[in-house]
Amino acid sequence: MKIHTLTTGAVRVKRAFLFPSAGPRRQLDLFLPGPWSDPLPIHCWAIEHEGRLLLIDSGETAAARNIPFARFEVTREQELPAALAAADLALEDVSEVVLTHHHGDHVDGLIHVRAPVLINEVEQRFLDSPFPRVMRRILRQPLPSGFAPQTFALDGGPFGAFQHSRPLSEDGRIVAVATPGHTPGHISVCIDDSDRHVMLAGDATDTLEQLRALRADAVAPDPKEHVVTLETIMAHCAQHPTIYLPSHDPQSLTRLADGVTVG
Ligand SMILES: [Zn+2]
Ligand SMILES: [Zn+2]
Repeated sequence: MKIHTLTTGAVRVKRAFLFPSAGPRRQLDLFLPGPWSDPLPIHCWAIEHEGRLLLIDSGETAAARNIPFARFEVTREQELPAALAAADLALEDVSEVVLTHHHGDHVDGLIHVRAPVLINEVEQRFLDSPFPRVMRRILRQPLPSGFAPQTFALDGGPFGAFQHSRPLSEDGRIVAVATPGHTPGHISVCIDDSDRHVMLAGDATDTLEQLRALRADAVAPDPKEHVVTLETIMAHCAQHPTIYLPSHDPQSLTRLADGVTVG
């Protein structure tokens, strides 16, 4: 088992995205002028296991357009093929891609991939629904051309503190778990790596600090559902020491390298 952190450029987000106010201004502030964060990484992940190469998300591309609350800093030389090459991996060796959710900074890199792509059926239903469709048009954030993932159900029963899961490897050591909130069908990937777990958290939170603070994010359609998920993740970390790796946390790279766990 080998887990690689891949980086496909960076993104700056509005402070109101990272630290939203409560109440009706939570989403409104995203569209008003305000201060911006430093560049945050856009990570995706590659797992070598059982002779397969599994990708979790596919990163962003240079074609990404800025939106009112995110500015992308991605060059063609930072897209998925180069990010894989930097880890001594090749696109042709990718067996499968599993998406944490449908946002562009996680799926746009699929333009490079021929392997099968999987998404939670709940997320697919959400992205087909009217509100996300309208938002993609307003924000000029189309899905990558040819986007047609296979759907899967989280029907594998509980895994640790998570109610719903699905194994992603033969031996059951790589598992998708339901982490709804940021989007309704958001999943994270838990890896049972000897005496600890590694959690590829996607955008379940932007940082470990946000997880510990149990703070819903600015884009979650249902902030209460998001907080329940954050409580579940904390409960899981209490049961199993877990290296917690959000896609945009500047600390994720060193946390994995140094084996720093929560719990
Ligand atoms: Zn997202
Ligand atoms: Zn993201």
